Amino acid sequence: MNESELRERTRALLKEVNPDAKGDQRIPFRGAQFDRGLAWVSFPEGLGGLGLAPKLQTVVQDELHKGAKTYYEDMLVNPIGIGMGAAVVLAYGREEGKRELLRRMFTGEEIWCQLFSEPSAGSDLAGLATRAVRDGDDWVLNGQKTWTTLAHISKWGLLVARTNPDLPKHDGLSYFMLDMQAPGVEVRPLYQITGEAEFNEVFLNDVRIPQKHMLGEEGQGWKVAIATLMNERVALGGGASKKGGGPIAVLLELFENVEAKRSPAEEALLRDRIAKLYIEAELLRLTGIRAKAARDSNVVGPEGSVGKVAQAEIGKAIWECCADVLGPDALVYEHGYELRQGSTSSPNSRLHAKYTLLRSRAYSIEGGTSEIMRNILGERVLGLPGEPRVDKDVPWKEIRRS
Ligand SMILES: Cc1cc2nc3c(=O)[nH]c(=O)nc-3n(C[C@H](O)[C@H](O)[C@H](O)COP(=O)(O)OP(=O)(O)OC[C@H]3O[C@@H](n4cnc5c(N)ncnc54)[C@H](O)[C@@H]3O)c2cc1C
Repeated sequence: MNESELRERTRALLKEVNPDAKGDQRIPFRGAQFDRGLAWVSFPEGLGGLGLAPKLQTVVQDELHKGAKTYYEDMLVNPIGIGMGAAVVLAYGREEGKRELLRRMFTGEEIWCQLFSEPSAGSDLAGLATRAVRDGDDWVLNGQKTWTTLAHISKWGLLVARTNPDLPKHDGLSYFMLDMQAPGVEVRPLYQITGEAEFNEVFLNDVRIPQKHMLGEEGQGWKVAIATLMNERVALGGGASKKGGGPIAVLLELFENVEAKRSPAEEALLRDRIAKLYIEAELLRLTGIRAKAARDSNVVGPEGSVGKVAQAEIGKAIWECCADVLGPDALVYEHGYELRQGSTSSPNSRLHAKYTLLRSRAYSIEGGTSEIMRNILGERVLGLPGEPRVDKDVPWKEIRRS
């Protein structure tokens, strides 16, 4: 199928189900989008795709933006499912049931979360301690996960556990899909600086996972986890979709509308800083588009870390600049900061900037810290010598842990 046929197919979808029609059209619209192969055009036919090059997905997005007012952002519908789960389920899931799993993920009927981090295993993920022991056709899991975004509303979790403690840490891991409603899964909220509990701790007490829910083979968990993380970094590091959109638009709006007493010198310095941030945000956006266009397969490499680290640092700098434009008012406590589950978005730029100043502290931690991204860039992209890893070949059970 060529580009103009793909455009035609997307326009036909908009005629079939109108996303602007009364009532919430998300599930019927995205269900039809999946059935027409327009969810992930690079996926095989029947699984939400058409077997085309990934870069052609932008053609679908373009037509959807042009053809209707309502646009369902993947990252708002099911960020972890679509951002990282889909590619992993496609590559490592069993054929049986795959279509329904991917369809419900794309429509957002089933939300996914990522159960990787543990209290003593974040950057050093391969050191994780959650144990999975085989019992007949099931695996029995015990352990604790932490910082699990969306666990409280998820149907499925992407989970890595230790199936063989006698092997070195990277080799004894396996990867599972966990039914979050299974007996023994306990989800408790963790509150962030914003007052929200966007994430949770998850306790696993004798939780049974059927063997058929293992993604990949026993002992392949690290390989599947790396594929997941590469996709996560691409999902987090894309930049705004429109020129001058996203965080930089909020900064410009505040700069134009917030009255402030500044000396001419202060004004000139602030203008300079905003212009520099605008250029950086635009470079990030263009680099994101270029990286997507250069991809001709579903396999993502370490270069996703470039976008992730740039997005984190530029994003934080923009929200800090918003706070400086607002002045001391940026730090005034607003109504709405009571403890709650879920995340906030406000159409009011002033409130949005105050909230995001706090939320943006997480940009350089979530999905791998900026220090770890720089290590990956140094070692895997630039080919610099690796940092010493003394426990790499030692059986996991012999490694001293805190
Ligand atoms: C908002 C948010 C959402 C999250 N959602 C999820 C989720 O859904 N699922 C999930 O599994 N996890 C999630 N996380 C966890 C996140 O992946 C970890 O916090 C992150 O990987 C860092 O791990 P850590 O917190 O254990 O810090 P640590 O690994 O203990 O790191 C502490 C500090 O040491 C530095 N450091 C560690 N090792 C090195 C090294 N080798 N070289 C240089 N510096 C190093 C780090 O950069 C950091 O500054 C989330 C985190 C946040 C903030």
